[in-house]
Amino acid sequence: SAKQEGRQGYRFFTPEMQAKATRNLLLLNALRHALTLEQLQLYYQPQVSMPDGRIIGAEALLRWRHPELGMISPAEFIPIAEDSGLILPIGEWVLRRAARQAKAWETEGLGVLTMAVNISAVQFRHPDLPDLVARVLEQEGLAPEFLELELTEGVAMLNPERAIDVINNLHARGVSMAIDDFGTGYSSLSYLKRFKVSKLKIDQSFVRDIDSDAEDRAIVRAVISLARSLGLKTIAEGVETIEQQTFLNQQGCEEMQGYLFSPPLPANQFAALLKRHPHAE
Ligand code: C2E
Ligand code: MG
Ligand code: MG
Ligand code: MG
Repeated sequence: SAKQEGRQGYRFFTPEMQAKATRNLLLLNALRHALTLEQLQLYYQPQVSMPDGRIIGAEALLRWRHPELGMISPAEFIPIAEDSGLILPIGEWVLRRAARQAKAWETEGLGVLTMAVNISAVQFRHPDLPDLVARVLEQEGLAPEFLELELTEGVAMLNPERAIDVINNLHARGVSMAIDDFGTGYSSLSYLKRFKVSKLKIDQSFVRDIDSDAEDRAIVRAVISLARSLGLKTIAEGVETIEQQTFLNQQGCEEMQGYLFSPPLPANQFAALLKRHPHAE
């Protein structure tokens, strides 16, 4: 109809966009209450060292279970949380829960794990982030070396000079950083050298087609060799098959994460896995 068309005659608001906007509004209103209604939960996915296969870490991944809407993917609700600013209280909750869980597993003697927590663009931009992280660690009694923050390459490169300050501030406090989804953005190598990060996470889009795609194999090889020459570790995400694992091992990738080892698990199932699986002492 004419109403759906712009002044130039372009259709700028399609029925699909309308449906998406309606759903986003519905999710936004529901998300405002998700924390207090205890609809949010952290799942944990093991990070495994190679070639010995020990569990050395966990990535905390947020889950939202809504009573009527069901499970909502973080890929859908994290952007809504970011746009609305809700990511700040939610992100603090994630950090606190993850730190508390890592401390609890350490206390129970289930192993000393590095807990990896995803940090969004809005959290990263917030000037209080380094103090907040320090405060939460102190309150939860977790030593900073057991926390690793994951920042996507895109976010780090948005404002690299500022990223250097924040990353180096966190590094000085003993918190390590990993660059998530590495290879999907455009990293300037000179910046990469100035970030005090300890790990590059090879994006799962390169791991997925390792067997069939020679270019993806070349990219993975290049990332691992770049990391090695900068003194950084590599972790591959989305490892699903033995063939992918074998190739990554041959290239010298130190750590892996993916369905081949385990999907993300609720805390009690992760603890059960730790009990029957070799892990870091
Ligand atoms: P990410 O940090 O890159 O996390 C990896 C995603 O890959 C997770 O999806 C994980 O469940 C999934 N995954 C793990 N192993 C495999 C595998 O073998 N195959 C495949 N196909 N996928 C695998 P998830 O949990 O849906 O999270 C999606 C994204 O949402 C995350 O990407 C992260 O960017 C964001 N996210 C999740 N939790 C949080 C959070 O607490 N805070 C923030 N800021 N972002 C979060
Ligand atoms: Mg991540
Ligand atoms: Mg990732
Ligand atoms: Mg990702």
